[in-house]
Amino acid sequence: MINEGIGEYEADDIRKIVTRILQDLGNPEPPLSLAHVRALLDLNIGYYSTANTTLLQDVAARMKVAGKQVLQRPMLLVEAVTKAKLSALWVPDTKRILIDEAVPKPKHRWIEGHEVGHSVIPWHREFLFGDNEYTLDPVCHAIVEAEANYTASQLLFLQQRFSQEARDGSLEFKAINAISKRFGNTLTTTFWRMVEDRDPDSPVFGMVTAHPHYPEIGTGEDGKSIRYFIRSRAFRERFGGVVPEAAYALIQRNATRRKRGPVFDATDVLPNSNGEQCEFRLESFCNTHALLTFGVFVRIKPSMVIQF
Ligand SMILES: [Zn+2]
Repeated sequence: MINEGIGEYEADDIRKIVTRILQDLGNPEPPLSLAHVRALLDLNIGYYSTANTTLLQDVAARMKVAGKQVLQRPMLLVEAVTKAKLSALWVPDTKRILIDEAVPKPKHRWIEGHEVGHSVIPWHREFLFGDNEYTLDPVCHAIVEAEANYTASQLLFLQQRFSQEARDGSLEFKAINAISKRFGNTLTTTFWRMVEDRDPDSPVFGMVTAHPHYPEIGTGEDGKSIRYFIRSRAFRERFGGVVPEAAYALIQRNATRRKRGPVFDATDVLPNSNGEQCEFRLESFCNTHALLTFGVFVRIKPSMVIQF
């Protein structure tokens, strides 16, 4: 689950809040309509532009927390938003979610789910949150941000509904693609959930990386090839010594020169915590923004026995 850094009690509270929301919506079929969520929670959404800051200035001028004017100079908020390259804002007093209209459309759903998280988590409600690419990153370790991300993933994947359906299908990109369409979420967030939640007892890892043959695909703004290393619970327990670079080496070794769609299907090995060589089935897919690769444990390789 995307809940690194969240306390047990907090995660439990968040799950209960989301269960309640889904119940109030009549336990809807996927994909979850965020418009219905907003209507239920009395939230409203707006889109701002950093080129034309009228809306932001207006928001800043009216913004009050606990009945007090927050900013004497509305331009301070506009400057803060522009400088921090924010993608979104949660404005508590007006129950407003504001999204930067320049953010690509497919990312809006996760962002909105995240901001809904700030609005429903009782201990976040009173605060103004400005979110940038970093805080919306599912591995962000700042606790409140991880909590908002956890709420987004619980909502958008309809809690256990996703893991049930994911387990009914096999772990392959065809299935990830189908379930991403069915739940209306991006391939990357669906891939993430698949690796972590489909079967936590099975060692599975996932990577979001650059394409080894085309660094222009997937290299992070920081110039790094490895963006995320995602692991199921069993993988963390039994393959704790596998560093991201070791997993990426498998990708470098097996990647074909295909730029889009399936990039490779292969079997390769990684050592477990006992030093035994283990076979993994690997599948890699390029969505043109990055390379998504998962590896599923197959078996411990029989040790070589020399017979006379
Ligand atoms: Zn946030």
